[in-house]
Amino acid sequence: MSKNRFSFDLSRFTVGAAKAWLLGIVALTATVAHGQTQTDPDTALRMLNAQQQQFEKGVIQVAENVFTAVGFHGANTSMIVGTDGVIIIDTLFGPSSAADAAEAFRQYSDKPVKAIIYTHSHGDHIGGASSFVGNAKPDIYATESFGSAEGVNKAVDPIKQKRNVRQFGRKLSPAESTNRGVAPAGTKDGDRGEGFLPPTVTVPNSGLKTTIAGIDIEFHISPGETDDAMFIWLPSEKVLFAGDNFYNSFPNLYAIRGTAYRDVLNWSESVGKMAALNPHVVVPGHTMPIAGEAAATAALQDYSDAIRSVYDQTVRGINAGKGPDQLAHEVELPEHLQDKPYLIQFYGTVPHAVRAIYCGLLGWYDGNPTTLNRLEPKIKAKKMAQLAGGTAELTAQMESALEKQDYQWAMELSDHVKWLDDADRKLARKTKIAALRGLAAREYNAPNRNYYLSYANELESGQLSNVWF
Ligand SMILES: [Zn+2]
Repeated sequence: MSKNRFSFDLSRFTVGAAKAWLLGIVALTATVAHGQTQTDPDTALRMLNAQQQQFEKGVIQVAENVFTAVGFHGANTSMIVGTDGVIIIDTLFGPSSAADAAEAFRQYSDKPVKAIIYTHSHGDHIGGASSFVGNAKPDIYATESFGSAEGVNKAVDPIKQKRNVRQFGRKLSPAESTNRGVAPAGTKDGDRGEGFLPPTVTVPNSGLKTTIAGIDIEFHISPGETDDAMFIWLPSEKVLFAGDNFYNSFPNLYAIRGTAYRDVLNWSESVGKMAALNPHVVVPGHTMPIAGEAAATAALQDYSDAIRSVYDQTVRGINAGKGPDQLAHEVELPEHLQDKPYLIQFYGTVPHAVRAIYCGLLGWYDGNPTTLNRLEPKIKAKKMAQLAGGTAELTAQMESALEKQDYQWAMELSDHVKWLDDADRKLARKTKIAALRGLAAREYNAPNRNYYLSYANELESGQLSNVWF
């Protein structure tokens, strides 16, 4: 079998490189305070650089007739070769990245595309379908609720777009860029969605078992990152395509770009169902496949258990009367899961998940009557200044916090100082910019790091208003 320059086989990755990668990561995380995603800057950067191997560009043969293209854009796309055609699972972001992957796939098969399957409706999985089909007219499979994930929050699209740019670090300089946690930085995004082809076959809510191009294939409805998700199972090859309910990072149970509540319990259950199949390979929606029955099954079971544990701990804390600020600092992964390479918080974080679960179950109110009618920010800032002994003293405290590299506190004080009419607002802004960059350097969680750096740049360039909402 000819292999293109991107190719490498999965067994080599899983046995060799992945082991080294895993040991490296575990050694690095020994210095990390669990439950948080900050460490010393050198370690944070080394961790993010190590994670880079998870989306190194290449086509991986995951079974005799199954190929996965990693790193051609943010997400993965896979090809299953059947008797008289191929099946494509997920189609990347736009026609150019998809054409690149389609060309790489043709090294292994030039049979016509009989079916395209969308695991869910996120843009990085559906935008390049046209590049795979050529003259063929494939069936295009999606769930009944396909598209529901993006339809609900249209009213706040303007701010979601800004926050999306920050979370993914889309406007960061090459020197500031690392990656996106489960995807490389610097993807070509100009043709977003231009190759999308609408679904023609609806997978019913009860799922579907069928044969396409001689391949037995099962569609299992599996809500998680989105409500319209499904996973795909090849019972003969024992290959499982997880969509975005599994990848090599703690899951993004909440996205800081702003999303509606992702039902965490459903997510845990969906991944548990995947584990119950004992796959020989699991192909994630992003990052490298995991091969070997024991490794693949354990990864899925651990993932399901991790989500469930964060949910259960949060619910227990809620019922004990604790608020989200407290719980975000208390809840952590059970010890036996903390060093699993697929649960390191490169993309999702436990504290963000805790807050999302709180809000998803109870809404914004933390149950404490003090917070029912909080002071307006400007009034509170004035009172904080009085408490400090005046605006000059509050400003001095802010500067001192920055000096001591107490970045979070420096930012919180700058958020008071910025409201004061008699304060040096430029200094408050400068302080916040410096604190954001200090925090960013310590972050190994890619969305946090990208958000801090992007926001610092926006503040510096004057794109944000005086009180920089
Ligand atoms: Zn995705």
